[in-house]
Amino acid sequence: MKTIFYPKLTINMNHLKKNISEISNLCAKNNIAITTVIKGFNGITQVDKAFIDNNIKSIGSSRIEQLEKIKELNPSIETLLIRIPSISNLERIIKSADVSLNSEYDVVKKIDTLCKKLNIKHSVILMFDLGDLREGFFNENEFIMAAKNIENNLSNIYLKGIGTNLGCYGSIKPSIKNLTRLSSIAENIETIIGRKLEIISGGASTSLSMLKNNTMPKKINHLRIGEAILINRDLEEYWGYDFSNLYNDIFTLKAEIIEIKNKPSYPVGEIFIDAFGNRPTYTDIGIRKRAILNIGKQDFGDHTKLIPTNKNIKIIGSSSDHLIVDITDCKIDYNLGDIISFNLYYEAMLFLSRSEYVVKELI
Ligand SMILES: *Cc1c(COP(=O)(O)O)cnc(C)c1O
Repeated sequence: MKTIFYPKLTINMNHLKKNISEISNLCAKNNIAITTVIKGFNGITQVDKAFIDNNIKSIGSSRIEQLEKIKELNPSIETLLIRIPSISNLERIIKSADVSLNSEYDVVKKIDTLCKKLNIKHSVILMFDLGDLREGFFNENEFIMAAKNIENNLSNIYLKGIGTNLGCYGSIKPSIKNLTRLSSIAENIETIIGRKLEIISGGASTSLSMLKNNTMPKKINHLRIGEAILINRDLEEYWGYDFSNLYNDIFTLKAEIIEIKNKPSYPVGEIFIDAFGNRPTYTDIGIRKRAILNIGKQDFGDHTKLIPTNKNIKIIGSSSDHLIVDITDCKIDYNLGDIISFNLYYEAMLFLSRSEYVVKELI
């Protein structure tokens, strides 16, 4: 069979390498260890290898399958399961993850029982919810009791530390106030169990903002980083921090033009619903030169998460298998078969990296 060429997701390995080392250095300077998070690109093997080859010692994912692959590539890398374990999958979890984030004592207890049966040890980072309202204990006393019980009662579990997650569901910013609270809870637990915790994990990429403005509480010594290395868009675009020493074009989508025609911008006939049952609104800006590309929602999810590298191209809309762009204002005279490139937001990377209809190419 002949190869399929487009649509294609290219991955710039030199730029990735640079981002890995810049973020590693920024964190090291602040005495912060990192776990790099590979869920955003679905653990594409060659990209995993770039992390391993660039001195990353700890890799995290929400997906067991991706951690299993890391263990196959290099068993000495520490694997961290960053989604709370499901009881039904515990055996695969403890065989592939050295560490897991947890928020239910009963689940940790089940892990301990299974570890005893299989004669292995497992480490946990107990999660506290500082207000973002996704995973984690919300009650401080319950949290401290759980930590104490893990330490004292579960002989095959090592309480490696505590952590929190911010800026996911509840859009809560990491702050001096909430991370200082995590630090003081950590100190409480240390007093109760009579030893230091190895890890106080202060969040994900968004917590890098606190390194940039030197406000990270001293006690926080670990972050779990995906976006800032892979996409590097959120902290600059939404937060206004300068990360211009990092690349934001590691993942690039390239799709092919399959139709070019001048058409009205306003649909002709009675407007009802689109292919997905939605009622979009349309603005009449006259006849426009439009190109259709050979990629669709099935591959990238939401077309507003694509950024044309040619600033004169405007994305008009999409359906499952088609992306429509306005090329009227382009200086380039596009032809059928030409390739249009897009930079990505996180969500588009997430979808595209797992679409079996999109060719992956390392450059
Ligand atoms: C996804 C995730 C991360 C990494 O988040 P980024 O924004 O990609 O840095 C860290 N921790 C948890 C619990 C996550 O689910």
